[in-house]
Amino acid sequence: MRVVWFLVMAVCASAASVPRTLRVDLYHAGTASAEDFALDEVLIEGPWPGRLDRTVDDTNLGSYRFEVREAKDHHLLYSRGYSSIFAEWQTTDEAKQTRRTYSESVRFPEPDTAVLLTIQKRNAQNRFVDLWSTAVDPKTANRSAGSKQYRVWPVIHHGAPPDKVDLLLLGDGYSRLEMAKWHRDAARFAAMLFTQSPFKERRASFNVWAIDTPAEESGVSIPSDGIWRRSPLRTSYDAFGIERYALAFDNKRLRDIAAAAPYEFIEIIMNSRKYGGGGIFNLFATVAADNEQSGYIFVHEFGHHFAGLADEYYTSDVAYGKTAEHPEPWEPNATVDPHAAKWSDLITPGTPLPTPWPKAEYEAAEKKIQERRRAIRGAHADEAEMDALFAEEARTVLPLLDEGPYGHVAGAFEGADYYGSGYYRPEENCIMFTRAVKRGFCAVCRRGIARVIDLYAR
Ligand SMILES: [Zn+2]
Repeated sequence: MRVVWFLVMAVCASAASVPRTLRVDLYHAGTASAEDFALDEVLIEGPWPGRLDRTVDDTNLGSYRFEVREAKDHHLLYSRGYSSIFAEWQTTDEAKQTRRTYSESVRFPEPDTAVLLTIQKRNAQNRFVDLWSTAVDPKTANRSAGSKQYRVWPVIHHGAPPDKVDLLLLGDGYSRLEMAKWHRDAARFAAMLFTQSPFKERRASFNVWAIDTPAEESGVSIPSDGIWRRSPLRTSYDAFGIERYALAFDNKRLRDIAAAAPYEFIEIIMNSRKYGGGGIFNLFATVAADNEQSGYIFVHEFGHHFAGLADEYYTSDVAYGKTAEHPEPWEPNATVDPHAAKWSDLITPGTPLPTPWPKAEYEAAEKKIQERRRAIRGAHADEAEMDALFAEEARTVLPLLDEGPYGHVAGAFEGADYYGSGYYRPEENCIMFTRAVKRGFCAVCRRGIARVIDLYAR
């Protein structure tokens, strides 16, 4: 156990004069129409795992952004876009009647002196505006972060963390007796990611780490099935009342565990067979380990978490209400522009815009699938019934999206981001649209992912 910890520290220390990681824990509270932040705790974690020459975020991703400026002259030291559980909760019905708070963290290289931390949010024109600021003095930080209680081990190691994307895998709901299964699952999911472009081609740009977090009891909470667990990461299905949506709400707990490893991205692998997962940009993603669709769920949700990709689908139940007006999404792979100026350089000249596709046929077939999906969940049927339905969908519905002259080119295909009209996606099919794990990411999603890899790997 100790040997592995020293390996992690030695790998981190190998890059000369790497600063520590400063973490600021915040409370993000409010209602559907109001929000505010409050400072909770300032902590020092392990060596900073990121590039020191890409401290300012130029990707313009996320619903929020944080900026770290020198207190004396407001010189910008660090910034990153991110999305939050609070922002998703804000669009639920509960937020219209209840005031709630969620814990959030921002992490940046430890500065030499006091800094000003500002949280920004997008306005109606999608530009970031200041929402809240606080002074942060590293001298006051809690230096006990980074639990040595759990074992850290490298799943895939390609170099010093500052030169690589550091992905951390955390297992939730694996009992002590299931640690061998956890190790197999961690290796299996890491391998799965690198079967997908552009991760496949950029494999050497990644380290993948894992932490063993043995649970008292096997499994995670599934409230709609009456299953409750106090699992190490507190991951739970039924987030915001959506059965398949699984999130870890105890941010401080998650961060304290994660602090033992170098990381920029977190994938929580739930020891569960039930279809489900989730992914929030620059926060974490979750996936059920043992579902027949686990490969798809993992890659799709990781697309949200890693590159801020939008859902390209619009036929499934989602947690959030959307506003009636149609603003241009900040996500790289959805647009309100029927000529898709956002990705026009990837469109072959002569492709009609918007681009024709068998929309009516697809929607009619998909409507029946969704009805049966709801019936299976309503009856609390065996998971095998859901597996069979998705297999049937793959055989009967998905081939519609491969046919025709535009089945495999970039264009502007109407239907994306939970809307059947007014929003366009880049290709007829993509793993952000359907469970098309063999098809993978479309060209626009691949480009979005590559940009984020470059932000963290040299
Ligand atoms: Zn896509």
